[in-house]
Amino acid sequence: MRPHFSSFVFYRVIFLGLFVGTPLQSAVLVNDITTLNPIVVSSVVTPTSVEELSRLVTTHKGPISIGGGRYSQGGQTATEGALFIDMRRLNHIVRLDVPRKEVTVQAGATWRQIQEVIDPKGLSLKIMQTYSNFTVGGSLSVNVHGRYVGEGPLIGCVKSIKIMLADGTLHTATPHQNAELFYGAIGGYGGLGVIVEATFDLTTNEAIERTTKTMPVSAYQSFFMKEIKASKVAVFHNADLYPPAYKNVRAVTWSLTRKPLTTKDKLAPKDKLSGIEQLFLSWVTKGHFGKAVRESFYDPYTYAKKVVQWRNYEASYDVAGLEPPSRDTLTYVLQEYFIPVDRFDAFVPKLRRIFQKHRVNVLNVSIRHALPDPGSLLAWARREVFSFVVYYAQGVTPRDRKEVALWTSELIDAALSEGGSYYLPYQIIATPAQFARAYPNHPAFFALKARVDPTYKFRNKLWDHYYTPFVEKNHD
Ligand SMILES: Cc1cc2nc3c(=O)[nH]c(=O)nc-3n(C[C@H](O)[C@H](O)[C@H](O)COP(=O)(O)OP(=O)(O)OC[C@H]3O[C@@H](n4cnc5c(N)ncnc54)[C@H](O)[C@@H]3O)c2cc1C
Repeated sequence: MRPHFSSFVFYRVIFLGLFVGTPLQSAVLVNDITTLNPIVVSSVVTPTSVEELSRLVTTHKGPISIGGGRYSQGGQTATEGALFIDMRRLNHIVRLDVPRKEVTVQAGATWRQIQEVIDPKGLSLKIMQTYSNFTVGGSLSVNVHGRYVGEGPLIGCVKSIKIMLADGTLHTATPHQNAELFYGAIGGYGGLGVIVEATFDLTTNEAIERTTKTMPVSAYQSFFMKEIKASKVAVFHNADLYPPAYKNVRAVTWSLTRKPLTTKDKLAPKDKLSGIEQLFLSWVTKGHFGKAVRESFYDPYTYAKKVVQWRNYEASYDVAGLEPPSRDTLTYVLQEYFIPVDRFDAFVPKLRRIFQKHRVNVLNVSIRHALPDPGSLLAWARREVFSFVVYYAQGVTPRDRKEVALWTSELIDAALSEGGSYYLPYQIIATPAQFARAYPNHPAFFALKARVDPTYKFRNKLWDHYYTPFVEKNHD
């Protein structure tokens, strides 16, 4: 088995020391899965208790950054010279209440760790991403979503969180108690403090069956509204929009069933791609022919197979299953755009035009649906939206980055022109003006940050990019 995360984050430890009882590594280079964002932090600490965390937060005088699984892709977990708090050892399952279908966990726990505890009790997480390697704290701070039918952002299944503020105090926040902290910290990218614990609503783990249907993308919006949104049995749903034509989609739905299981395992294996799968992926990456073969032969053959498996199996995939053989010259990157449901048909031609004009090497566009956010300050779904998750390959040279910045900025403008938004855990390309349009409640979030973190202790590249200029502008 590959060592946990070692292929995604590369640490070069220059000096090893001790700091208030916590292992400390000094002057460390932190990078992320894409390899595009190397950042030198002053040191890394991995607290194992809330008391230790409080001591670190209160005694450290300089900037602090917070890292979970570090799958965000634009420096959201670090900034130069910060004390980097690695949360992954504050990862205990605090309490599982089976009759109430509730679980309380420390924020460094991964979804997979939780699944291993709740699955034997017949329970399942209500909302999470497609893969299970992410931490609870990182997922809350991004306010993630998945392919769950009839759900929206993660905040929808959170009962409460505990957050440690810059003065080391711990606060419980729910929609009714310290509601500002609740709606600020969820989706707040570590800007308000360290999320230490969270309680989630759970649901029943049930058997689900996969069905698929192909159609022109122009037919998808009404198909989804009539057949999927209204369905009483659909659990997961997404549609793959096929590059390079972006004309056809394959809608994939997982629905409750009483049919016998075809996959007996309860959780997915923690596998990386086989050599053949890696070869296929890199072939699809390289050109139009590979992409055409995927749409016309590979997917029809793969999806013809009947599959019945547990909900938890479908929710427990490992990101290792996406990893290419090398990221030295070409790296795989994500982006995501959120479009109000009634603007779907207007956005698709804009997306197609931009990708084709810039010859973007798109591997897949996964379309999903989300109900509106109940009120988080940095909500990406202020209305009911379709999301377009773009998985693409890019080179790693400065010229490649410039090209990506160009088409990304055009895509952000296209999403904004339809009343939509873009996702914040990916490369930080949007200008402050684009950010302000996509996240119009940011002044309320920044005002709250200024109040609970007056010395700008909690930092990362995202807040250096948007919060610092906002504060400077508003102090003039
Ligand atoms: C292959 C892949 C697939 C993905 N699929 C999806 C998907 O299906 N849906 C989706 O919504 N997103 C998806 N993402 C994006 C991903 O969900 C987010 O980046 C998520 O936050 C990653 O969790 P993490 O533990 O790695 O967080 P990190 O990247 O470590 O942190 C993310 C942010 O949270 C902050 N943070 C972390 N822990 C804490 C804490 N305890 N307290 C306060 N702040 C904290 C960090 O400072 C940072 O700003 C995907 C990313 C990848 C690479």
